[in-house]
Amino acid sequence: MKKKAKYIWFKGEIVPWENAQVHVLSHSLHYGTSFFEGIRCYETPQGPCVFRLNEHIKRLKDSAKIYHFEIPYSLKNLSDACIDILLKNNLSAAYIRPLAFFSDEFGLGVCPPENVDMNIMIAAFPWGSYLGKEALDKGVDAMTSSWNRAAPNTIPTAAKAGGNYLSSVLVGSEARRHGYHEGIALDINGLLSEGAGENIFIVKNNTLITPPATNSILLGITRDSVIQIAKYLNIEVKEQAITRESLYLADEIFMTGTAAEVTPVRSVDKITISDGNRGEITKKIQDSYFGLFNGSFEDKWGWLTNIKEK
Ligand code: PMP
Repeated sequence: MKKKAKYIWFKGEIVPWENAQVHVLSHSLHYGTSFFEGIRCYETPQGPCVFRLNEHIKRLKDSAKIYHFEIPYSLKNLSDACIDILLKNNLSAAYIRPLAFFSDEFGLGVCPPENVDMNIMIAAFPWGSYLGKEALDKGVDAMTSSWNRAAPNTIPTAAKAGGNYLSSVLVGSEARRHGYHEGIALDINGLLSEGAGENIFIVKNNTLITPPATNSILLGITRDSVIQIAKYLNIEVKEQAITRESLYLADEIFMTGTAAEVTPVRSVDKITISDGNRGEITKKIQDSYFGLFNGSFEDKWGWLTNIKEK
């Protein structure tokens, strides 16, 4: 990847971008044994603020916990390290990517020894909207993938693990190959799961509906933020299973994610959603979500961490 910032936080130290290297026999490279986060820092009227930093770091630790792996830093150490790397790179709006991984400290046996700590790196660099700036207004064309998400009790989708993203590569690449912006996956029972890198909401009769954890989703932090914002705005929210055809008949659809933010979906499988324009509720949620960062919507939840005040 092209150099996008000067420094990377690597195994407890800040090093030049080009010095953050691992060996080709790294365990995580071979078996997908890594956990990661995607976090955003926004330029706000109060200064640069990281969105829901603690929740992201908690999820990173929880991802490792599912696999009995140990991340040898506290929540506070890791949160502080995210802020340190932003400050060191002089970034005010950035994408932050912490990653826990095994390198070549033990052999190529599949099961890591019990007492081996994971390594951590944290990169931070500028990254615009994942599905394009225009997509935030105009929406994206999505395709239902021929690939299903992993069944429960196979590969846990609550862990944001490197290996899980093979599923996202299948779903996202298939959609792009067929000329769509993004792919949507169903779960093993044919019910809506999530996008390749986003959670999904539909709006039907003024109610927001999104699949629950039991439909093989990553429990997105943007998803949770949207649920809380919608409740605050007195919009009814339901977490319930969604059939494929209810996507086609939805009044509105949008995707959520740290990278994708809140992106409307204007068609699924070439079926236009309502009139194909961004819906009213989608716009309301977007205005509140982005309002947290431009100062037009108060952060009642304490979700923003001002990096200059740390
Ligand atoms: N599902 C998948 C598969 C993802 O990769 C992401 C992005 N992290 C999400 C959902 C959304 O999660 P979040 O809102 O926490 O970024």
